[in-house]
Amino acid sequence: ATKAGLAQMLKGGVIMDVMNVEQAKIAEEAGAVAVMALERIPANIRRDGGVARMSDPAMIKEIIEAVSIPVMAKCRIGHSVEAQILQAVGVDYIDESEVLTMADDKHHIGKHAFKVPFVCGCKNLGEALRRISEGAAMIRTKGEAGTGDVVEAVKHQRTVMADIRKAASMSDDELYAFAKDIQAPYHLLKETARLKRLPVVSFAAGGVATPADAALMMQLGCDGVFVGSGIFLSGDPAKRARAIVQAVTHYNNPDMLAQISENLGEAMVGISVKDEVKTGRQTSYADRGH
Ligand code: PLP
Repeated sequence: ATKAGLAQMLKGGVIMDVMNVEQAKIAEEAGAVAVMALERIPANIRRDGGVARMSDPAMIKEIIEAVSIPVMAKCRIGHSVEAQILQAVGVDYIDESEVLTMADDKHHIGKHAFKVPFVCGCKNLGEALRRISEGAAMIRTKGEAGTGDVVEAVKHQRTVMADIRKAASMSDDELYAFAKDIQAPYHLLKETARLKRLPVVSFAAGGVATPADAALMMQLGCDGVFVGSGIFLSGDPAKRARAIVQAVTHYNNPDMLAQISENLGEAMVGISVKDEVKTGRQTSYADRGH
């Protein structure tokens, strides 16, 4: 399959952050379509501060050996050698992630050069199409990782969808000008307008903590959901993981969602983006760079 074709197989699924083999097995058991292997989940990266880098390849290999579902791992933005190492380790996907510290403040990785598919974050359509133009096989919202606050993911998804609807209503002449405005390659914008969706699989990420959050992102047009800190910082990870998987399947059925949402124990406490990021007590990962 092509790299974009591989990513299509994740559609309708949940991808969970895991920090060890035990969590990876819980995620697989709960029905995750893939796991993201990382030493520290975003909430802990926030807590710890310092430079956040690619995880130890030994830890990633243990997880690859322990589960049968695809394993993703994160490299720093622009760090093509971390990406080369992750590809050599045998990960199934690489997330070029703003959750880690940026390694290059001007350039993202040239992703066409790799055999392994990449997923990248975006806040709007222009950013999504720039990443696809660099070779990303899958897109996700940036959201605000590690907060348990879904507000930024909602904003990014609504922004992308509104831009797509705008593009879909435009004449060719208008599309050339719009491509210039949003700094997107014309051919990818044209293709997006024709499809009325991104030309690659598009997931929600950043702040999803409950089944309702996951279903909300699906109703807003996402193809699936990444859940980071929300599962393994909650009271009952196995139960919450299963509930979020079910919520993504039944995202349009409020009766099912009501059942799914019962008795999940404590959700992650969370950090309000509005209170903490905007007062400078927390860094906005989504706003790193411009
Ligand atoms: N993501 C992060 C974390 C960034 O810092 C930047 C810009 O430097 C971007 C995305 C946006 O890059 P571009 O303007 O090429 O889309």
